[in-house]
Amino acid sequence: MFPVGDADHPVISTVHLSEEEAPMGKKSSKGRVKIQLECTTCRESEVPGVSRYPTTKNKKKTPGRIEFSKYCRFERKHTLHREVK
Ligand SMILES: [Zn+2]
Repeated sequence: MFPVGDADHPVISTVHLSEEEAPMGKKSSKGRVKIQLECTTCRESEVPGVSRYPTTKNKKKTPGRIEFSKYCRFERKHTLHREVK
């Protein structure tokens, strides 16, 4: 027998999606944390500042530090930006 829903007895889906596999658009900020990407070469150079980019990441998918090549406005070139807290 296959359950058939009607107005009085709707069939409730029992499919479970985990937080990570839930389709986009759902309100689920769980696991996402705010981080900053900081230029790794500004500190060693003579530039008057450190390039930083605010962003977020999924802590579960990327437990380690993330690194991106981004444009550093102080050094005026693309450099390696690493996650800082
Ligand atoms: Zn820099």
